[in-house]
Amino acid sequence: QPDQPRIVFLFSDTGGGHRSASEAIIEAIQLEYPNQFTTEMVDIFLQYAPSPFNLAPRVYPPLSRMPDVWKFGYQISDGPRRANMVYNAIWPYVRRSIHRLIHENPCDLIVSVHPLINAPVLRALRKETVPYITVVTDMVSTHAAWYNPNADLVIVPTEAAKERAVKVGVAVEKVQVVGLPVADRFCQPVGDKLALREQLGWPQDRPVVLLVGGGEGMGPLEQVARAIEKRSPNAALVVITGRNRKLKATLEAHKWSIPTFVYGFVRDMPDFMRAADILVSKAGPGTICEAFIAGLPIILYSKMPGQEDGNVTYVVQQGAGIWAPEPNQVADAVCRWIESPEEREKAAQNCLRVARPDAARQIARILASAARKKQQGG
Ligand code: UDP
Repeated sequence: QPDQPRIVFLFSDTGGGHRSASEAIIEAIQLEYPNQFTTEMVDIFLQYAPSPFNLAPRVYPPLSRMPDVWKFGYQISDGPRRANMVYNAIWPYVRRSIHRLIHENPCDLIVSVHPLINAPVLRALRKETVPYITVVTDMVSTHAAWYNPNADLVIVPTEAAKERAVKVGVAVEKVQVVGLPVADRFCQPVGDKLALREQLGWPQDRPVVLLVGGGEGMGPLEQVARAIEKRSPNAALVVITGRNRKLKATLEAHKWSIPTFVYGFVRDMPDFMRAADILVSKAGPGTICEAFIAGLPIILYSKMPGQEDGNVTYVVQQGAGIWAPEPNQVADAVCRWIESPEEREKAAQNCLRVARPDAARQIARILASAARKKQQGG
């Protein structure tokens, strides 16, 4: 629709839930303002980055399995001056592509949900008057590249992220704490757990442990599953292997001594979370915030060094979960919560306390008003 305000989302499929965050916001815009806005998602690395930067989505999964390499890259670039140095160095290589991106996607508002694109896009935008809003999709320990003083607004999920934004140079009035945008399906009322279990074919008479390793099925999922099997004969296990097909085949070949259900990438995560009693997961921001909304207590078994460090601290400090970096520690934590349902219930209540099911809608309202203002010549 030519007369509708147009919002362009810059994202990339490099983990960190950038795609799901943009989709959640776009969905919220359509729910709040049906057919009033045109939205578009641009995968900046796939569609616009010159070689070798366009390899980012393909390099991310293997790279994310090398925590030391990842940590090194994260740390050497994590500071306003260091990030600037990196961007100055790559600017001559990406300048033309970024200008092309801007000219091929005229709009009333640019929304970035990726840390690595803010500096180059804002640099190219200098002479244009398109408003630019960043939505940070990491929870607590947020990389300096998320924050650029020239962004018009930076929306963050937590107070800790706001402090970080201000510390690395964003004016305090440009930072707003709203929450992480989560798809609407996760934000509906929890519903009847037992009915859902019946529908899913899961047992009703024992606690169900839901094991997830992000969208990629990352981390020692197999060892964790086996440790739970050994230590918790009264539990049932649901393992989501995501896009990790090899892991799925390995788990399916094993003869489990407790009721165990193995899935690949599932579309019904909201129902899975509502039907389960305990979540065991890597410290991905999307999964954690979804579990908060479902009131599902969390055991975290691994994290990406750097951006996910703070997620662990946050979950533990809020009393919503346990950090258990070894498979045996996970099994211990599961036993503890199975033997002490009161403790588990307390963690579930803490999840609900920190949940922000309204975040995507609130962000939608902020974006809608910015895009309308621009369209009306503001
Ligand atoms: N997810 C899903 N189906 C699966 C596995 C994961 O829908 O089989 C979703 C999950 O609900 C979450 C996202 O994928 O929304 C993973 O995001 P997160 O930030 O937790 O981790 P990432 O893999 O992006 O680092």
